[in-house]
Amino acid sequence: MKAICIFLGSSNGNHPAYIEAAAAIGRELAVRGITCVYGGSSTGLMKQLADSTLDAGGKVIGVTVQRLKDKEEFHKDLTKLYVLPTMSERKNLMIELSDGFIALPGGIGTFEEFFEVYTLAQLGFHTKPCGILNVNRFYDPLEEMLRKTEQEGFLKRPYKESIFCSENPHELLNMLTS
Ligand code: AMP
Repeated sequence: MKAICIFLGSSNGNHPAYIEAAAAIGRELAVRGITCVYGGSSTGLMKQLADSTLDAGGKVIGVTVQRLKDKEEFHKDLTKLYVLPTMSERKNLMIELSDGFIALPGGIGTFEEFFEVYTLAQLGFHTKPCGILNVNRFYDPLEEMLRKTEQEGFLKRPYKESIFCSENPHELLNMLTS
């Protein structure tokens, strides 16, 4: 696996565990020689991820849009920064560049991006693995919602067959890459 795309908060969240997890997964990617693809921002968990990957000697590709770049909301030290005209073109490139996807805690931007790649997998547009890093039990309510969705007959495949989930970055990367 050459590159993994990480979706995560442009804010830090209220618990130090979120920052620690973003830094830990960045270090793991660097150690494994896996390029980190992410949204290119220099704020919140996005910044922690990029900084820790780069500090550990890894490569980071940012994929942003012109509007955010104009507002100076991008990381200046990335291995490579792509700037796309629209959010949908940006997301398509993130998907194209990556061999797998992981969501860390974040807000609606993170949810939207993760659910797009999950939906595309369900529809057979790609077969790349999708994972959730369930730091501080942040994603327990989402798992509950997916369980309910499955029970009520709205999921085409059991979600546990489609999404890897772990609270440990090392374990989650092992799941995605095995
Ligand atoms: P959120 O979870 O709402 O904080 O949004 C984070 C997600 O949306 C990230 O995975 C990014 O891809 C995208 N995003 C949010 N803010 C920015 C930003 N300033 N620059 C680039 N991408 C961003």
